[in-house]
Amino acid sequence: MAIGSDKPLTQSASMYESAGKIYPREQAGRFSKLSKLATVILLGLYYVVPWLTWDARQAVLFDLPARKFYLIGLTLWPQDFPFLALLLIILALSLFFFTALAGRLWCGFACPQTVWTEAFIWMEQWTEGTRSQRMKLDKAPWSWNKLRRKTSKQILWIAFSMWTGFTFVGYFTPIRQLGVDIIALNVGGWTLFWGLFYGFATYGNAGFMREQVCKYMCPYARFQSAMFDKDTLIISYDEKRGEPRGGRKRSVDPAAAGLGHCIDCTLCVQVCPTGIDIRDGLQYECIACAACIDACDSVMDRFNYPRGLVRYTTEHALKGDTTRLLRPRMFVYGALLLVLITGLITAMATRTPVILDVIRDRNSLYRELPNDMIENIYTLKLINQRSTARDFRLSVDGVPGLALDGVDGVVTVAGGDVLSLPVRARTHRGSAYGIMNITFTVVATDDDGVTVTEDSRFIGPMP
Ligand code: SF4
Ligand code: SF4
Repeated sequence: MAIGSDKPLTQSASMYESAGKIYPREQAGRFSKLSKLATVILLGLYYVVPWLTWDARQAVLFDLPARKFYLIGLTLWPQDFPFLALLLIILALSLFFFTALAGRLWCGFACPQTVWTEAFIWMEQWTEGTRSQRMKLDKAPWSWNKLRRKTSKQILWIAFSMWTGFTFVGYFTPIRQLGVDIIALNVGGWTLFWGLFYGFATYGNAGFMREQVCKYMCPYARFQSAMFDKDTLIISYDEKRGEPRGGRKRSVDPAAAGLGHCIDCTLCVQVCPTGIDIRDGLQYECIACAACIDACDSVMDRFNYPRGLVRYTTEHALKGDTTRLLRPRMFVYGALLLVLITGLITAMATRTPVILDVIRDRNSLYRELPNDMIENIYTLKLINQRSTARDFRLSVDGVPGLALDGVDGVVTVAGGDVLSLPVRARTHRGSAYGIMNITFTVVATDDDGVTVTEDSRFIGPMP
């Protein structure tokens, strides 16, 4: 039995209603310009950055097999993971801070889903025309014109998606070599998988799913309301000014006709990429793209009404109260951000660009040599985190007379390389008894400040 009905559910009855296709109307205006600029800059960065070179290598490369992340002049190693973790925490906190301050700015102008969808809509407009032309084309029976337009759109979308997938993989494997490998049809299985996966994800999300991703898949849309308060910047319809809504001629005085400023043209709904009506109040589907502001402002201009019937505002401002920019949560987010950013900068600036790891040979406790000498064997792993080669002086102490044999004292490690160096530490038999703590020291020959030490043990005969 259907709820609220006395009719039994038949087999053909369905509780599912598919979402109708949204045809966002093209819009001009200041926020539309800003959105186009953001799309061009962000997509431009995404596609150009992997092609940039720094110190004869790819400027940004997440080299997973070598476990090294190159970020322009910086090389991050697995030992630097805390820096990355801190950076992610800072990014998340920045999102909280800016959401509390300015609402869903991220969603409207910088989110990858918004940016790629915008680019896909441009291609749709180039091939299928304006909103009304697209709607007409979809309703029309198949014809040569429809086939030509739909095919052109698909070719553009697929080519753009594949280039996106190729670029994505180019952040993890040198992109120039990847290009050569693709041309030579010599691409590894995983590389091919990730390129196609990311390409098809772009195609599906930006070409077909669009607002469904924001409405049903994005977790941020669900919890961002927890960061909102009555002083957060939102896009809102001014009900007091707009109601009662209704059509009228431009010559009609709304006050005399008992009307508000909303002429009920529905332009704000037609431009909305998520298909909602901003006049129904604040809705979680609203991604704050500000297209409805541009649309409504153009109507207000035509009717000689003041702009801003739909505008950036706050709940307090709408009620006529004062908006408070500085409020406790802003101070808390701001202070936390400041501490974390300062901590990250300080940690990065004072980071010693060399790592020393000492592994003692476990196969023998010690070796007795002629001339009453005792020897322990170690493998030193020396990581030069700088991008250029560097000389290091090695030494060891902790036991009287202890010295290194097998190295000349100075070793050279190539930029961003790991040197695995077997060394022997020796001293006189009379100096070493039992287990003794020793310390290996590595100093860069060109800068005494670049020094690392690592403790180990020296084992001699039991007393
Ligand atoms: S309601 Fe306005 S700001 Fe919100 S998504 Fe729709 S057009 Fe963009
Ligand atoms: S665009 Fe402005 S005037 Fe037109 S329906 Fe929307 S709010 Fe009313």
